[in-house]
Amino acid sequence: MNDTLFGKIIRREIPADIVYEDDEVLGFRDIAPQAPVHVLFIPKNEAIPTLDDLQPGHAELVGKLVLAAAEYARREGFAQNGYRVVMNCREDAGQTVFHLHLHLLAGARLGHFGAR
Ligand code: 5GP
Repeated sequence: MNDTLFGKIIRREIPADIVYEDDEVLGFRDIAPQAPVHVLFIPKNEAIPTLDDLQPGHAELVGKLVLAAAEYARREGFAQNGYRVVMNCREDAGQTVFHLHLHLLAGARLGHFGAR
């Protein structure tokens, strides 16, 4: 079992500001927000380390992460203004927690990004 601090958040062993939950996805505010809205969406029932570990059978799960973010954006009223979703894979992307997660960033005009 790949246990990370996100596993502890799922099990409520460490606190998090949880803003979204369904049977398969948990959404909580990032502890170091990079935008006025910065929420992480993670699978609750499977701790896949990275995007590179995904298998074809994970397609529905990945779709549910994206749909959860889109539903949250609509519910919170910022879908019309727009938002960004990001998934970091390994070192060059700056991945620090090895439990698959999707970042939702919103609430401001976001700058472009890339290699510096
Ligand atoms: P990554 O860099 O792996 O794509 O994203 C991991 C994210 O987890 C980072 O944006 C980081 O700020 C966030 N994070 C790290 N530790 C905690 C924590 O204990 N609680 C919460 N809510 N977020 C965390």
